Amino acid sequence: MVDQHRFLLKESELPTVWYNIVPDLPHPPEPPLHPATREPVKPEDLAPIFPESLIAQEASPQQFIDIPGEVLDLYRLWRPTPLLRAHRLERHLKTPARIYYKYEGVSPAGSHKPNTAVAQAFYNRKDGTRRLTTETGAGQWGSALTMACHFFGLECCVYMVRVSFDQKPYRRVMMQTWGGKVFPSPSENTQAGKDILAKHPDSLGSLGIAISEAIEDAVKTPDSKYSLGSVLNHVLLHQTIIGEEALLQMKQAGEDLPDVVVGCVGGGSNFAGLAFPFLREKMAGKKMLRAIAVEPTACPTLTGGEYRYDFGDVAETTPLLLMYTLGHDFIPPGIHAGGLRYHGMAPLISLLHKEELIEARAFQQAAVFESALVFAGTEGIIVAPEAAHAVKAVIDEAEKCTASGEEKVILFNLSGHGYLDLGAYDIYINEGLPEVNHQS
Ligand SMILES: *Cc1c(COP(=O)(O)O)cnc(C)c1O
Repeated sequence: MVDQHRFLLKESELPTVWYNIVPDLPHPPEPPLHPATREPVKPEDLAPIFPESLIAQEASPQQFIDIPGEVLDLYRLWRPTPLLRAHRLERHLKTPARIYYKYEGVSPAGSHKPNTAVAQAFYNRKDGTRRLTTETGAGQWGSALTMACHFFGLECCVYMVRVSFDQKPYRRVMMQTWGGKVFPSPSENTQAGKDILAKHPDSLGSLGIAISEAIEDAVKTPDSKYSLGSVLNHVLLHQTIIGEEALLQMKQAGEDLPDVVVGCVGGGSNFAGLAFPFLREKMAGKKMLRAIAVEPTACPTLTGGEYRYDFGDVAETTPLLLMYTLGHDFIPPGIHAGGLRYHGMAPLISLLHKEELIEARAFQQAAVFESALVFAGTEGIIVAPEAAHAVKAVIDEAEKCTASGEEKVILFNLSGHGYLDLGAYDIYINEGLPEVNHQS
């Protein structure tokens, strides 16, 4: 019998709803608080930065939300994405575990991020927005949003974390190809940027600073709104298309629900996108599956942060969110997984971790790249450094099965390819990466 490697859905089998985990949680999440009054934010407080459709989704009590037709039409450019069985990695590890991965690197921007970018651009245009501002770390989010804005005829202005702006020129060029305007952050465009530059002229930047700049710009510029690529409930919601597809594909592969679901976490959206539909099955009592969120030791939000209300940005302009946080003034070292440099974590993921419904792990970047090379050498794909964190955790789990003889089913989110991150591979292969730990 020939091994089947790829489990594909037809375009006509594309799921047509997103899954909202909120009504299924053990208790409701605590509300975001207004930065000045510390009272729960009202929809009108968010109106200067988000369109009304997304404000409504952010607080939706509905378990399933229909995906608009225009969004589905754009999803069809790359969705459904493939589910693959990693036979060659399994054989390399001599593991009895069965390893599957959902490959989001096939999107035009190379990651899962267009799943929400397209949805956010759609709702903004519908509600009358003409221009979106945002921040980007490694450039993955900025490239996804500039593409989505272009499809819907919106202008897009991106504040890109300085260290990535310098390290990743090709992401900037992608954004410009899709018509985006890109500024290194901190920049002179905003008061928030100027304040940082006055104190730290050589600032590497951080997502927290870039968010402050993007919000300030959106509030000051007519017909502009702000867009966030992770963390918020509506962003995690849009990503659940990944897990809804994967549920169908695991069935196609003849599997019951997996034993372990793995994803890397920056703000938490790709992990949520894959894991939430499976956690729904877990919370319904169908299987005691484990979900593992993986982060870098340099920015260990879940494994080293505190669970408390904190700001999403450095300038303290965002609502306060109850989440695991390293502190909103945390500036992570210039690690090579730019997408995992955020100080906070999605409130929904934070709550699940607090309730012990999910687990978290942190790894050193050298160990992460070692795993990425094993994956490239067996499955062929050069994974994004962010996704390599998930690969490292998967290899660890599979090796435990090698030792114990357990035939576990492991599913992970391969959130993006690393073809625009070869600079980081270059440093790992030709120079070596130092240990980086968070100092609290
Ligand atoms: C942005 C990014 C991440 C981290 O963001 P999440 O919101 O936690 O998913 C992970 N992988 C890739 C490829 C990314 O581009």
